[in-house]
Amino acid sequence: MAKTLVYLEAKGDELKKISREMMTVARMLGDSAAGVISTGSDAALASAGKLGLKKLANLAPENGKLYAAEAFAAELAKLVEAEAPAYIIFGQTNLGRDLAARLAATTGVGYMSDVTAIEPGEPPTFVKPLYAGKIIGKFRFKGEPPHILTIRPNIFSPSDATGAEVATETVQPDYTSARSVLTSIAEKAAGMIDLREATVIISGGRGIGEAANFQMLFDFAEKTGAAVGASRAVVDEGWIEHAHQVGQTGKTVNPTLYIACGISGAIQHLAGMQTSKCIVAINTNESAPIFKVADYGIVGDCKEVVPLLLEEILKSRG
Ligand SMILES: Cc1cc2nc3c(=O)[nH]c(=O)nc-3n(C[C@H](O)[C@H](O)[C@H](O)COP(=O)(O)OP(=O)(O)OC[C@H]3O[C@@H](n4cnc5c(N)ncnc54)[C@H](O)[C@@H]3O)c2cc1C
Repeated sequence: MAKTLVYLEAKGDELKKISREMMTVARMLGDSAAGVISTGSDAALASAGKLGLKKLANLAPENGKLYAAEAFAAELAKLVEAEAPAYIIFGQTNLGRDLAARLAATTGVGYMSDVTAIEPGEPPTFVKPLYAGKIIGKFRFKGEPPHILTIRPNIFSPSDATGAEVATETVQPDYTSARSVLTSIAEKAAGMIDLREATVIISGGRGIGEAANFQMLFDFAEKTGAAVGASRAVVDEGWIEHAHQVGQTGKTVNPTLYIACGISGAIQHLAGMQTSKCIVAINTNESAPIFKVADYGIVGDCKEVVPLLLEEILKSRG
């Protein structure tokens, strides 16, 4: 089988879930994987080192120089040359998309984005939704490897395999050719749960009535440990920031429980949440399309139902 190269992502001391999802894909496509990460955290590096990789390189962040697509792609291109992987795997994340596209352009290698399934074969077939999931495309790479792909978060199950800790090679990227450099990252709202990592999400759409009613969802989230999502309609209205948007032009989520409040269920919204394990929809219109994907439907006003739900959840938790 082939060799793979995975570009891992970490946040603070933790590896992001997408990193373990990429390891699952690496194991589907190859028999040995090398990894690249960029982290200043020893703990994140140690976690990456135990994923069962054959090799690990850390594109070490410097003070005031955290990332530049040109600099990182140049280092990755050298690793690709040295490792000769058949597949180079990134997450379909802001960083993964930026870097995968740059690496593809730098090396002239074929690039397939947003892969959601892989059908085994020689060569394997890659599946990706098109037109917001209205149709499913199946593709094979042509020509000689390597091939680059990004995988959609929250689709492949995260690998819990571990291996002997590998030594890390520290690489200092050369920023001289960089046209823009990421200098710092500031957390927006401290303590806010990342939608992509959340196990419970409560999302609001236009049916919640007005911006102020999002407070009801934030109260619910705070008391239950959920994250708050939103439809694009309310983001466009300016009721909540884009970081909360779920869907085709927002985030793809896959929580254990997704509660859709006053959301009609447009195809572009479903594209981001329909793989949730359990979907509860609250809508005044019993014919709303969201009920077609919901496991549980509540026909009612979300402003009345959400506080009742919260009360019952808190009662059941004692
Ligand atoms: C290229 C493109 C990309 C897009 N990307 C996205 C995306 O990423 N994410 C996204 O969400 N949308 C996206 N959209 C927009 C999408 O098509 C819909 O317009 C949007 O999802 C509708 O949002 P909504 O359900 O909140 O609002 P509406 O469609 O207005 O639905 C409101 C719902 O609330 C119900 N309701 C009203 N009052 C109450 C009440 N008191 N209690 C309970 N229910 C009530 C109504 O019955 C209705 O079903 C995109 C569109 C395009 C063209």
